[in-house]
Amino acid sequence: MAQLNPYFSLLEESYLFQKIAAKKEAASRKDLINLGIGDISEPLPTEAVEALQKASKEMEDRPIGYGPANGYLFLREKLALHTSADEVFISDGAKRDSADLADLFHPSTRVGICDPVYPVYRDANLLLGRSITYICCLEENGFVPLPPKEPLDLIYLCSPHNPTGVAMNRGELKKWVDYALEHEAIIIFDTAYAPFITSPDVPASIYEIPGAQKCAIELGSFSKGARFTGLRCAWSIIPKALGEIHAAWARRQSIHTNGVSYPVQRAAEAVCKHVPSTTSIKEATKELKNGLEKRGWRCFGGIDAPYIWAKPPQAATSWEIFDRLLNEWGIVCTPGSGFGSQGEGFVRFSAFGGKETVQKALRRLEAMHAL
Ligand code: PLP
Repeated sequence: MAQLNPYFSLLEESYLFQKIAAKKEAASRKDLINLGIGDISEPLPTEAVEALQKASKEMEDRPIGYGPANGYLFLREKLALHTSADEVFISDGAKRDSADLADLFHPSTRVGICDPVYPVYRDANLLLGRSITYICCLEENGFVPLPPKEPLDLIYLCSPHNPTGVAMNRGELKKWVDYALEHEAIIIFDTAYAPFITSPDVPASIYEIPGAQKCAIELGSFSKGARFTGLRCAWSIIPKALGEIHAAWARRQSIHTNGVSYPVQRAAEAVCKHVPSTTSIKEATKELKNGLEKRGWRCFGGIDAPYIWAKPPQAATSWEIFDRLLNEWGIVCTPGSGFGSQGEGFVRFSAFGGKETVQKALRRLEAMHAL
């Protein structure tokens, strides 16, 4: 008899966003302003659309079938800023890469995952039956993760971080690289929000830190910066210096995928040549953060990512804050506790909805005295 993977029972019953969707559906107010959005709200860049059209025409003129499982060289070359092109692997999403990479490691691997965290890293490892050590990101440290005393084998880091929007500077990231080298650990470094970095001391790639080639896998995505969430294209970088892990990933990918479509990779190439502007979302984030702080909210992040991690002037649980914002003010946010126990008391605001959405929300918050 086919039996379900028993580790499914370790997952939370419904994914955070399903619960939020149900609450939105049941809300008395219908004129909701969405500051919970993790998706894009601006259209695909023109360069990408033109490249898609051109590539489709090429496919009408001549057969273009399966491409290489690891992606076309023309795109891998563009992404090989700190590595060689054969260390780059194209995929249809950093989400799936972050989950799939867990397959490469031994069942006994000691996995370190931040709390709060993008839940995919946790759930992918729970499904493999791994025990997880949580790296608590604390308010007193500005929600920056610090290496633990105990040894870990595999560490997921995301900078700029979802959900807190906090990014690690060079010194903070160096501590992790040094830790990984000392413990012969591997860091999976997710840079999905790198296109929103504004601080000069925040690296867009872990490979800017000496030694990282020997201990880090990097994930990148066209989703947030180039607005590809609906098109799907991302990449992982696995340096050959990581030994058998590089070959194992190539092997795993060749089992699981025949690659990303040719037009999508051409569109990705086009946005590497003409990098889309993220200025308007960065401005919206700044405005939202300033507005919240003026109204007494304590805020983190919001400088190098379009997420602001915030708590109101009067303490409440994350879901209490969420419910009150939703039902009284018609504002949707994301409860921090949904990203881990250290998120309790906080909510995540997103500026992905753009300036107008942010300004509308701030006008409503103006009328709100206290929670
Ligand atoms: N990594 C992080 C940290 C994210 O927050 C998200 C999406 O919200 C992703 C990856 C998803 O990337 P992709 O759209 O390339 O799968």
